[in-house]
Amino acid sequence: MLNILVLGGTDEARRLAAGLAGRAGTHVVSSLAGRVRDPRLPVGEVREGGFGGPAGLEAWIREHRVDVVVDATHPFAARMTASAAEATGRAGVPLLILRRPGWQEGPGDDWRWTPSLEAAAGLLPGLGERVFLTTGRRSLPVFAGLDGLWFLARSVDPPEPPLPRHAEVLLSRGPFTVEGELALMRDHRIDVVVTKDSGGRMTTAKLFAARELGLPVVVVRRPATPAGVPAVETVEAALAWLESVPGRAG
Ligand code: NAP
Repeated sequence: MLNILVLGGTDEARRLAAGLAGRAGTHVVSSLAGRVRDPRLPVGEVREGGFGGPAGLEAWIREHRVDVVVDATHPFAARMTASAAEATGRAGVPLLILRRPGWQEGPGDDWRWTPSLEAAAGLLPGLGERVFLTTGRRSLPVFAGLDGLWFLARSVDPPEPPLPRHAEVLLSRGPFTVEGELALMRDHRIDVVVTKDSGGRMTTAKLFAARELGLPVVVVRRPATPAGVPAVETVEAALAWLESVPGRAG
């Protein structure tokens, strides 16, 4: 039997759980942070809520006799990734990071790469006045001091305060279409877009729309993955990697 813990909250994690469902000799538990009000659930067993830092995760791994952990969290879920690296190291179980590739700038794009949300906020006043902000509901406080700018802030759940003084909140969950994004940006007279380099197809439409409208896009770089931890970019590669992990007897 191979006990697999999948740290999830992404489309890749759900597809991995689906790919492992029914695989002989395999037991999978998917873990969610439990912060989204109405999460899309993976198939199979699910647990929710934080583990209580690396020590809590290590204890959970030992208690549930986990043989391997797959960190399939969002590329910007850096605390969970760091915690997984530390906990699996201490517990002596292998860890695989499943991380979708980042986005690539193409001809016609006007992207400004920044190392952090704070740096993105610093760039904005020189770039535009009406900002389409798609960096997640917990990022708004970083932009709260920019009183001279207007924001359209889109997130799945209501954003955490403080919000910028001039902001309209749009609660919506992808995937989005290029036509829809074009209409949204035109209707709100957006002149600059801010995004994290999340990668994947669910939210790329805004990038194509920005290209078509000739708008600059401020792109926040993703945090690095922990050194020495194997990483793959696709669910298929993760499934193949897991084939090589020995299960425990009995
Ligand atoms: P984070 O900052 O790295 O994590 C903060 C804390 O939340 C972690 O230390 C951990 O608590 C708990 N946590 C995070 N992911 C967890 C999981 N899969 N299972 C159990 N506990 C988890 O992460 P985040 O950016 O808040 O993301 C939270 C969740 O939303 C993740 O599952 C991620 O995949 C998903 N998500 C994030 C983004 C994003 O932009 N960051 C976008 C889409 C989806 P303990 O230390 O107590 O264990």
